Amino acid sequence: MNTVDNINFAGKRALIRVDFNLPLDKQTLSITDDSRMSATIPTINKILADGGSCVLMSHLGRPKEGREDKYSLVHVVGHLAELTKTMVHFAQDCIGEDAVRLANNLKPGEILLLENLRFYNEEEKGDIAFSEKLSKLGDVYVNDAFGTAHRAHASTAVIAEFFPNDRCFGYVMAAEVANADKIMKDTQRPFTAITGGAKVSDKLLIIENLINVADNIIIGGGMAYTFMKAQGGQIGNSLCEDDRLELTLQLIEKARAKGVQLLLPVDSVCADSFSNEANNQTLPSNQIPAGWMGLDIGPEATAAYKKVILESKTILWNGPMGVFEMSKFENGTKQVAEAVAEATANGAFSLIGGGDSAAAVHKFGYEEKVSYVSTGGGALLEYFEGKRLPGIAAIMG
Ligand code: AMP
Repeated sequence: MNTVDNINFAGKRALIRVDFNLPLDKQTLSITDDSRMSATIPTINKILADGGSCVLMSHLGRPKEGREDKYSLVHVVGHLAELTKTMVHFAQDCIGEDAVRLANNLKPGEILLLENLRFYNEEEKGDIAFSEKLSKLGDVYVNDAFGTAHRAHASTAVIAEFFPNDRCFGYVMAAEVANADKIMKDTQRPFTAITGGAKVSDKLLIIENLINVADNIIIGGGMAYTFMKAQGGQIGNSLCEDDRLELTLQLIEKARAKGVQLLLPVDSVCADSFSNEANNQTLPSNQIPAGWMGLDIGPEATAAYKKVILESKTILWNGPMGVFEMSKFENGTKQVAEAVAEATANGAFSLIGGGDSAAAVHKFGYEEKVSYVSTGGGALLEYFEGKRLPGIAAIMG
């Protein structure tokens, strides 16, 4: 694997695709979790220590049409300067004269952060002319954004064509691939995959693929209720994707046929509104009356999940077990995090898929007690599907 370690960056401008798609507080726009930024600091430091300079590009959020201030990367400049202890220049546009001038004037040891790539829809379209404009801003292309490696966007894949001999992975990418491979290629059994979160549609394909490799699949979070309803359960006002009912039944059947244990939450902590102040009660997950919704796995489900996790030697976790952001519905996620940490202490290899599961592990203080916390949710799971990720393929050539 060609990484920054194979290149001497002295006098060179590294154009680095980073993942600064950080969660920001809606009101203050301050960073609420800097994991993806701090993960990439070693890559930046290596380049600066060589005597190179860094031009950083990223997306932030999902701007719809053009510029939107709440998605400006200017909000993360100060924190980047703190983490790198370096002055950070900011280009108010990711392409154009100003960006070119700032990139050309960059001195060794300096950093330039470009404005949000997704202010141009050419980014997600993988537009070649846009990629070429970006490519003018650096001498070597470095991809360290695992979180977007599954997208064939301009800055994550297409741009690599303009650096046929000068492209490599950053340390985040290298570590992500090495850790994912540990699960895929060096699987110690039993292998338990834990999936949760809000939307089943995002995870159906992944679950389908995990059925081919895992021994146990634990399902929690809002997505569990589509499974419940598909089996004839009453789920009240819980989250449900009615157009996926048939597919969830097929998954249950496929797991059965393959001898994979698919665990659904027997009980749920239910609330009469989506609020931490709501009334709540524990109910069987398939007997939730109208007006009530399941917002966390219940105590029985939690105990069953913990038992399976503690017996596992390989654990992959993506997606919270409930609305862990609210204290009344955090218990399932917290207990699962604790069990993953305990299994890890007993010798299991545990990989936490990015996004909300990473935020949960961080919130409950188990970050240092699991084997690896990935910076990429979707990318990691697509890697587990056996897909060749465009961001990886583009560097490999
Ligand atoms: P995802 O992005 O699909 O992984 O979903 C993560 C989000 O799912 C988190 O913000 C959780 O609050 C939310 N979530 C988890 N369980 C539930 C649930 N039972 N009902 C509603 N939202 C949930």
